[in-house]
Amino acid sequence: MNIFFDVDYTLLAVDGSLRPNTHEVFEKLAADGHRIYIWSGVGVRTAEVRRHGLEELVVDVFQKPLHDFEARLSVFDVNVTPEFVVDDYPEIVGVFGGAVVRPYYFPVAGDDEMQRVYRIADDFSKTGHSDDSAFRRRRNGGPSPG
Ligand SMILES: [Mg+2]
Repeated sequence: MNIFFDVDYTLLAVDGSLRPNTHEVFEKLAADGHRIYIWSGVGVRTAEVRRHGLEELVVDVFQKPLHDFEARLSVFDVNVTPEFVVDDYPEIVGVFGGAVVRPYYFPVAGDDEMQRVYRIADDFSKTGHSDDSAFRRRRNGGPSPG
């Protein structure tokens, strides 16, 4: 699957620190054959991806539409279809399908949301569904997982 991660409060706290287990979960998702993309509503965050040593695990970095999500993909040259979106902003997850994460505002050593994201993505990629309450199905069907 093409898995798209939001940046602020999904992967990064207010102080710019990385959410616990992000590296490990990105490695597992990539090893499972998924393609990881990063996008953000405030721009192309390549610098943050590099600063946290994630560039080897990330296929590409885009700006994210903040409204009319599907129609505006082309505005930001998002040339791949988001098949599983991970974001603290529920509306975009409800459009593409994926997982709504608890916002990560302040560093919390015990935060285990990334493992939860992994389980939801893994379930969805294998079965087309997840029983986790954070899972959102893609609106209007959409592509099958694979
Ligand atoms: Mg966010």
